[in-house]
Amino acid sequence: MSSKGLFADIPVDVGVVYEGERIRSQQMFVELGGPNEERKFELVQARKPEEIEDGKFIIIGPDIKDMKEGGHYPLGILVEVAGKEVERDLESVIERRIHQYSNYIQGFMHLNQRYDIWFRLSKDSFKKGFNSFKFVGKVLQKLYKAELPIIEKIQVTFITDPEKIKDWYNKALEIYEARDARARKLKEADVKEFYGCVLCQSFAPTHVCVITPERVSLCGSINWFDARAAARVDPKGPNFMIPKGELLDPERGEYSGADEAVQKKSLGGVKKIFLHSMFGHPHTSCGCFESIAFYIPEVDGVGIVDRHYKGNAVNGLPFSAMANETGGGKQVEGFVGIAIEYMRSPSFFKADGGWNRVVWLPSTVKERVKTAIPPELKDKVATEKEVQNIQDLKTFLKLKAHPVVSRWPPEEAVAKVPTAEAAVTPEAMQPTVATSTITLPIGGGGGMGGYRLTLKNVKIVAKKLILKKAK
Ligand code: SF4
Repeated sequence: MSSKGLFADIPVDVGVVYEGERIRSQQMFVELGGPNEERKFELVQARKPEEIEDGKFIIIGPDIKDMKEGGHYPLGILVEVAGKEVERDLESVIERRIHQYSNYIQGFMHLNQRYDIWFRLSKDSFKKGFNSFKFVGKVLQKLYKAELPIIEKIQVTFITDPEKIKDWYNKALEIYEARDARARKLKEADVKEFYGCVLCQSFAPTHVCVITPERVSLCGSINWFDARAAARVDPKGPNFMIPKGELLDPERGEYSGADEAVQKKSLGGVKKIFLHSMFGHPHTSCGCFESIAFYIPEVDGVGIVDRHYKGNAVNGLPFSAMANETGGGKQVEGFVGIAIEYMRSPSFFKADGGWNRVVWLPSTVKERVKTAIPPELKDKVATEKEVQNIQDLKTFLKLKAHPVVSRWPPEEAVAKVPTAEAAVTPEAMQPTVATSTITLPIGGGGGMGGYRLTLKNVKIVAKKLILKKAK
């Protein structure tokens, strides 16, 4: 796939090789959506063929060439599709492909999903002539038709006008909520199979999303119905069916079928996963998660921070620092990327205590999920408005008699280390050395031959370190 063939009329190269390309602020011509913009969205809607015009682009508001270098702008993308087999169930999955296809464009970066999108265009690509949304629209149209032949007609609208985006933004939020609400009625026990997604493996090679009726994907944009529809119409695509297999651990949510699927799709990188625990073998995290659940050993509780939260969470770390540690396809005990919607699941971290273990949330998230918080806990879960550090959190939890307080040892020994139930393994408490490169001479001694072993981007966990002078 390159600009020489299908994309000859696009001024920059287009291909999978650009997926995963990052554009830093110094390299960027313009930013669209992202944390500096309140309103942004991407939305796919299924239409009747007569309702749309194939190949049409509509740009409402300034086009890229009218934007100031270094500026940021709101952006709404509405993709309308039609075809005999195009149905509403496919909207979310077609929508998620915007992430994949737009990242094929050289010098064009897309992050996140739904109401959270974040694009950057590089100065180099702008200089090459990529100065209009019509090029983005053309790439999307060509790729959708090439890769999802069920799409017979496609029309794309870009909205950058700060006033005109408002109506569509609100409408998009209602549509996302309706999709989520439909999936809430189904339970894991009601279905014979789960679904997986590996779309994010270009960024996180060992990441496999396991999507069940009680665990929406961690990007929050693909629920069980969406993934099922996608696996049916595009069996060679990133979504696939996972036979449930045997329920090995009802509390933690371990299924033999899910274990086999993640082993296979991560090429052995991940052996097993617990769908409903953040300890032991938690779900992997890519980088698209809407929020991070993080263990707070000092209070033996769980905090949650979303990517919109500015400043430090109660543990003193900003979202970005925790995201670096959590993402990339790793299984990190005590740190898991989750969708906001997962907090509404009846199985939400049920092995760890569920809502009884949650001690801190940003106030905006608390407001969004307020109907999911058990009434007796509503005043016991702190936000940044009540508490900004661990010491104050301890005082708050004691004052409110939060259920985690009953887990604490006597005052002087409060949670210096996680409790046994927290299931943080002894190995996880061993010294860890994070390093980018270590070079070790092996054999030969004194530079007289032998081998040199180079380890790159490693983490070393050692029970004992023995340093001896070589003879
Ligand atoms: S977060 Fe999961 S479901 Fe969402 S696109 Fe990535 S792999 Fe797919």
